Amino acid sequence: MIQLFHVTKEYPGDGPALQEVSLEIDKGEFVFLTGASGAGKSTLLKLIFCDEPASAGQLLLFGKNVAKISGSAIPFVRRNIGVVFQDFKLLANRTVAENVALPLEVRGLAQKEIRRKVRGLLRSVGLEHRADKFPPSLSGGEQQRVAVARALAPDPALLLADEPTGNLDPERTLEVMDLLYGANARGTTVVVATHDRSLLERYKKRVVVLQAGRLLSDGDSVRRAVS
Ligand code: ADP
Repeated sequence: MIQLFHVTKEYPGDGPALQEVSLEIDKGEFVFLTGASGAGKSTLLKLIFCDEPASAGQLLLFGKNVAKISGSAIPFVRRNIGVVFQDFKLLANRTVAENVALPLEVRGLAQKEIRRKVRGLLRSVGLEHRADKFPPSLSGGEQQRVAVARALAPDPALLLADEPTGNLDPERTLEVMDLLYGANARGTTVVVATHDRSLLERYKKRVVVLQAGRLLSDGDSVRRAVS
């Protein structure tokens, strides 16, 4: 589903954020991406989301070379990808329910079906009672849970999440992780960037470790990540 071959990313006027990263993520996998702040986790997710081009190397997404996807085709590729990114904010002038409904409306679902799905998703993140509120009146953690509900709404083929539990207390963290697990069980490929080691220890999944832009290790053992 995602293949990187010697991918390097340099931002103008900066050292490389990613250096020669080669990595393959198969359909249906659940992968943690970890490493210290500045290791390149967000950059890697942005490259996969076609939000930034690689400076060198090759990235294949759904079997396509992303460098060859035209700008006008990117929105269509992104329809298969749900994202929970720090800088993909909720729309402040739409209610919580409308925010979650948006990706379903884009896909042309019937209003009745949209209402049913939105209600179920908000229930699953414990925010049914906030459906008619506007995001700025919610706490950071609540907004994050709405973002997760919005990303999962269309049952995307791929979910990219950047520190999706960063603002949450332990109980809410487990709820959000359960949601990501549920999505994965239904077939969504999930890539979660986190520096929360307790998550890596709790959920024994594949752990890809980045260090200063390089792939340090890749495996299902958390010992590699924390050693
Ligand atoms: P992480 O998500 O692991 O904290 P990032 O991918 O955000 O790491 O950052 C990797 C490196 O790239 C850091 O040195 C950061 O300063 C740099 N970087 C990230 N985004 C930009 C940008 N838009 N412009 C310039 N440098 C950036």
